Amino acid sequence: MVSRRGAERIRAGHVWVYRSDVIKAEEVPPGAVVTVQEAGGRGRPPHSRTLGSAFYSTASEIAIRMISPKPTDNVHQLVRERVRSAIAYRERFVDDTNAYRVVYSEGDFLPGLIADRYNDVLSFQVLTQAMDLPEMRETLVAELRRAFDPAILVERVDARVRQLEQLPEKENKVVFLDARRRGGAPISPPSDVAAPGAPARQLEGSALSTEFSMNGIRFLFDPLAGQKTGAFLDQRENYAAAAGYARGEALDVFSYQGGFALHLARVSSKVTGVDSSRPALEAAEQNAKLNGREIEWIEANAFDLLRDYSDAGRHYDTIVLDPPAFAKSRRDAPAALRAYKELNLRALKMLRPGGILVTCSCSYQVSASDLLEAVMSASVDSHRNLRLLENRGQSKDHPSVPGIPETAYLKCLILLTS
Ligand code: SAH
Repeated sequence: MVSRRGAERIRAGHVWVYRSDVIKAEEVPPGAVVTVQEAGGRGRPPHSRTLGSAFYSTASEIAIRMISPKPTDNVHQLVRERVRSAIAYRERFVDDTNAYRVVYSEGDFLPGLIADRYNDVLSFQVLTQAMDLPEMRETLVAELRRAFDPAILVERVDARVRQLEQLPEKENKVVFLDARRRGGAPISPPSDVAAPGAPARQLEGSALSTEFSMNGIRFLFDPLAGQKTGAFLDQRENYAAAAGYARGEALDVFSYQGGFALHLARVSSKVTGVDSSRPALEAAEQNAKLNGREIEWIEANAFDLLRDYSDAGRHYDTIVLDPPAFAKSRRDAPAALRAYKELNLRALKMLRPGGILVTCSCSYQVSASDLLEAVMSASVDSHRNLRLLENRGQSKDHPSVPGIPETAYLKCLILLTS
């Protein structure tokens, strides 16, 4: 039973109801499928109105995540259909890659589930009590294996989310590994609860790694290493767009494993990638070798390096800024905006006339207009005119749903300096 405010949120197209809007949920077990009703009375119809069915969490502030406007009698069938429809969407809208997000949680009407494909490796992540239930895991694993027949299936764990959902601690692990990757050893029985110490876990990371491609560029992927789920698939279309404008000398700041740098290398005379993480740059160099490119990698704090380089009067024709999320909550937004402005100001000072600035933000709390404002203010301070060539978001394999603003988080502006 939810309050009027909760019900209105659902009627406006959102799928979340916060705990403060739940009026009654007695003895609902963790992760259960519930029928959601709007409480009646007080100037409203005396009888409660059914809003649909949802996954319930006993722990999260987001108590309810709607899965259907109708009551659901077979949630496993519904989930299987949603996974299939997510896959059909990718077949229709994803090109030039064998690495993409297969399931994007609320963006695919499967709240609490993320799945990514990297060539023959599938990785998934469970973010809610409902998706963590053993029977649900079985359904998901069976459906993903049926659809992709992956050589390797791994589960990636977000420890913080599991804690928030009061789920038992877990580690990243291989759920399934088939004979193609075990040198002909017998296939292990499909199980998503492989006991610790099972053969699959003892393999070296390199035995699990694979190679994928996007936009004709090759990348190595180690399913149990790397941050997030390994590579930044959400930027795939922005890499190609940036390469469409880039030229001359290019600087890729917050380079990680070289996503932008490798794309820029195709069209630029010289590319430098900057990141504070040595392991990320080592992976980036391996990717560069794989593509026969020479890229200069610098391990540094981006803020220090940009200040030093701009003070020293260095110049570039293309600069990419793709920092980590500075604002994790609304409270951090003002500090985040100052950081965005600082980075963009330094970059603008170093761009030659006719140069290209590609500037990104993956903080949901910072909107596209906030980012534009930070960039504009940097352009005023640096006395540089700017023209907006493209105002972009995340790739289409991370679909955003109009009623759920949280599904759209990535901003990528491409600007021309004069
Ligand atoms: N552009 C990358 C993704 C960047 S993710 C891609 O397309 O793949 C953010 C990166 O910023 C991470 O690799 C992290 O190591 C790096 N980072 C975080 N803080 C930093 C800092 N202060 N200076 C330099 N790099 C930083």
